Amino acid sequence: MPTTPEPPARGSLTLVRHPLVQHKLTLLRDKNTPTKIFKELVDEIAMLMAYEATSDLTLEPTVVETPLERTTGQRVAGKKLTLVPILRAGLGMVEGILKLVPSARVGHIGLYRDHKTLEPVDYYFKVPADAAEREFLLLDPMLATGGSAVAAIDALKRAGALRIRFLCLVAAPSGVQRVHQAHPDVPVISASLDRELNASGYILPGLGDAGDRLFGTR
Ligand code: URA
Repeated sequence: MPTTPEPPARGSLTLVRHPLVQHKLTLLRDKNTPTKIFKELVDEIAMLMAYEATSDLTLEPTVVETPLERTTGQRVAGKKLTLVPILRAGLGMVEGILKLVPSARVGHIGLYRDHKTLEPVDYYFKVPADAAEREFLLLDPMLATGGSAVAAIDALKRAGALRIRFLCLVAAPSGVQRVHQAHPDVPVISASLDRELNASGYILPGLGDAGDRLFGTR
């Protein structure tokens, strides 16, 4: 029988307070951290956070032959976990998580903001088939206004996804609230809940533009 831990409460926010995550996040915030180190830190934090974000995956028993005898172990049940980075900053989180879950599938969502409506529109969307049977980890280092996150979750749900977790490094209170209002079934997992957004939509204290800092396009 598969063992399913309690599902996260609706509208849940989990802050990963592990000392290594917090230490690395502080290095990430530092404006003097160069691109190469920034990238490595995002990779490491994403891996550590994925450990937390997958702590309630369903297990099922499986028989294994040790060198000495046959025994019953546990393995993650169901189809392969699917990572979905929101382009482009979410890409920085993929490799770190794949180190922990190498068999995970990787989808992609690209969004742009429509100049007239100011609403995000997806210009690229590709996830594996059988979305209803998969667990999705939606990735974006920054949860700012929540507009992209909500649009990405909308797109995943249109594709049939039923089980989605949103993984970010830094969240703003208004972004978390917007995701919870639109999608209370999607748990948010973050390394930090920062103070607020500035007038340009940047998180304070934040870490600046995650995409630019990851890809050196500042
Ligand atoms: N996106 C970023 O990269 N940084 C922010 O502070 C907000 C959104």
